[in-house]
Amino acid sequence: MALATNLGFPRIGPARELKKLVESYWSKQLTLDQLRVGAAQLRAANWKLQSGLDHVPAGDFSLYDHVLDTAASLSLVPARFRPALSPAAAIEDNLFALARGLGGPSQSPAGSSQAAGPIGIPAMEMTKWFDTNYHYIVPELEEGVRPVLAWNKPLETFQEAKAAGVNARPVLLGPVSFLLLSKPKSPALDRFALLPDLVAIYRKQLRDLAAAGAAWVQIDEPCLVLDLTPEAKAAYKSTYSSLAGAGTAKLLIATYFGGLRDNLDLALSLPSEALHLDLIRDPDQLLTALERLPAGKSLSLGVVDGRNVWRADLDRALSIAERAADRIGPDRLLIAPSCSLLHAPVDLDLEATLDAEIKSWLSFAVQRVREVVAITRGINQGRSAIASELEASRAATESRRRSTRVHHPQVQARLAGVTPQHYRRASDVAQRRRVQAERLGLPALPTTTIGSFPQTKEVRQARAGFVSGTLSSAAYDQFLRDEITRTIRIQEAIGLDVLVHGEFERNDMVEYFGEQLEGYVSTKLGWVQSYGSRCVKPPLIYGDIRRPRPMTVEWSRFAQSQTDRIMKGMLTGPVTMLQWSFVRDDQPRSETCKQLALVLRDEVSDLEAAGLKAVQVDEPALREGLPLRRSDWAEYLRWAVDCFRLSTASAADATQIHTHMCYSEFNDIIQSIADLDADVLSIENSRSAGELLEVFARFEYPAQIGPGVYDIHSPRVPSVAEVESLIRANLKALRPWQVWVNPDCGLKTRGWDEVKQSLVNVVEATRSVRAALASKQPVG
Ligand code: GLN
Ligand code: ZN
Repeated sequence: MALATNLGFPRIGPARELKKLVESYWSKQLTLDQLRVGAAQLRAANWKLQSGLDHVPAGDFSLYDHVLDTAASLSLVPARFRPALSPAAAIEDNLFALARGLGGPSQSPAGSSQAAGPIGIPAMEMTKWFDTNYHYIVPELEEGVRPVLAWNKPLETFQEAKAAGVNARPVLLGPVSFLLLSKPKSPALDRFALLPDLVAIYRKQLRDLAAAGAAWVQIDEPCLVLDLTPEAKAAYKSTYSSLAGAGTAKLLIATYFGGLRDNLDLALSLPSEALHLDLIRDPDQLLTALERLPAGKSLSLGVVDGRNVWRADLDRALSIAERAADRIGPDRLLIAPSCSLLHAPVDLDLEATLDAEIKSWLSFAVQRVREVVAITRGINQGRSAIASELEASRAATESRRRSTRVHHPQVQARLAGVTPQHYRRASDVAQRRRVQAERLGLPALPTTTIGSFPQTKEVRQARAGFVSGTLSSAAYDQFLRDEITRTIRIQEAIGLDVLVHGEFERNDMVEYFGEQLEGYVSTKLGWVQSYGSRCVKPPLIYGDIRRPRPMTVEWSRFAQSQTDRIMKGMLTGPVTMLQWSFVRDDQPRSETCKQLALVLRDEVSDLEAAGLKAVQVDEPALREGLPLRRSDWAEYLRWAVDCFRLSTASAADATQIHTHMCYSEFNDIIQSIADLDADVLSIENSRSAGELLEVFARFEYPAQIGPGVYDIHSPRVPSVAEVESLIRANLKALRPWQVWVNPDCGLKTRGWDEVKQSLVNVVEATRSVRAALASKQPVG
């Protein structure tokens, strides 16, 4: 008999219960006991939502992050925390302290790393979990620290499940992936030196689980889909030969987010009863795996998509499973989603207002579980046993394939008509700079901001009032116009050169555009965890993208009419729109991106026609779209860069195209950044201590660039002297005509007082460096 299984379930709850629970505990509205009871109820509810499965995961839940849980349970805690963390303290409090820092002002809610502020103990760093939008806490490996088991989380949750009547499959993050995802704090430290101790602990955990009655244990080794060094491969071999035979539970090694490719033989050779394959990201690996499968080993087939929201084509999924069953027999098969459902929204049934036709094409975590159950039944009892499920699936697949809401001949005709010319501005960057210098008349070291100004309580309340109908559309528009005007006056008074309108009308930089485009739909409750208690609700692209009318032009035109200075139009770029949405699975991502690029191109033209002399097209997600394997980078970068160019190249030479990215690792993609062919690039820099400047200087970046001089991740106001020294450092590394002065990122998460004071200091510092430049004093 094939088994119906799951690798992990969303922790957040159907109505973001986890967020409410944890945040109420942080604000002291709940006691520790109440937090524990609430978390246990959530776990029990999640298990219930997965009933029908043979293997329900346990231990996949976490109050903050499972990698953090693993580090803390192994006592691998940074030394800076040790004096502050009491062994007597509740484990929950220690976990939150590690994740959020101690003693400083509260962390910034945006951005991918947390700052604990100027005082206190800085939080552990956070980074993206593979190519998802989930962020994990990066374990820090320090000299002389040895892992010691401090908390047997897998055993604890297994027993809790058992008490709830669920015979669960415990999930552990594998020791090799754990080490590969960690960060050694000194260059001399060899992460694999920790393996012997780690393996001893995992052996104990496996024995304990078996003794407690676990029949199977799932060990996640997603790093097996990455490019591995010889050391990492050796670590896999030695680790799993030592883990074999620890306890009597059967071992499932889970790989996901890609194909195993050159690591397939390695993965198959590791002693384990079963291996999980992601057959959504790499369906072709099944055939090779079946050919090379060692006798007796089972396969877990990830045949429904754990990362996206499309209803599975059951015929297709079942055929794949049947092929495997023919070859190795149903007894050696586990049916599963491609990866943990952590990355899927919870329950489609709760979408009460979603368009019925679109809804019939979708599947969230709860529905995925049912798909897995149906496919498994189809294998075990034959297709006739799931005839009605197959029928419904076919109808949905057909309706989506044929729907005129998905396929628009005009969009396709326009795509077909795109020529190489569409990707090129009329003149090269140097020529454009001359034309723009004349038209814009900006001083040396022009100052600007990244786009958003504080999204205050008043702004959010007004929007909520407008959405719920208590504030009329006219009153809301007036409110926004007032905010914009006020923000313009403030920027003028501070003396900034290129102004922005402040983005007050936007709930989110992707959803705002998604709501105005055809082919996009937003859900009410389609939340997925981003980090800790933070969730995001990506809009969903279901069809060809069309722009019924201009999206930002009215606001930008109004803003420009309020000032004599240069106003920047503000758009989200095609790659970021793609990256932060759920996207179609019926065409390549590059095609969808191209469609997005074309509607943005129209928006750029309309902004130009409305008198905007500068337009910024943000691409903060460009780098995170990089594929997991290096050999796939070039192809991605080619179409990503092309799409950005397609969206901006229609601009006249005299229109200054800006772009913005908020990270500082450009080393390996600098050529592509230059290929974007933007006139001005603003980037995060104030936290990266010059490494970035070196890259741009060495490369001789051909356009203008504003490396951030104000760290917006912290509420701290930078002094004039600090900003001045950052500007001077920028001037030293770059050529003077290249340098712009701006913050690291948008200011929406900050308060007005700090923002005003910081920008006053930025402008004062700029003026002082300008004066030095004018008098030809050395500036470097
Ligand atoms: N223009 C956006 C803002 O200022 C950019 C946000 C981002 O880089 N993530 O908020
Ligand atoms: Zn940014």
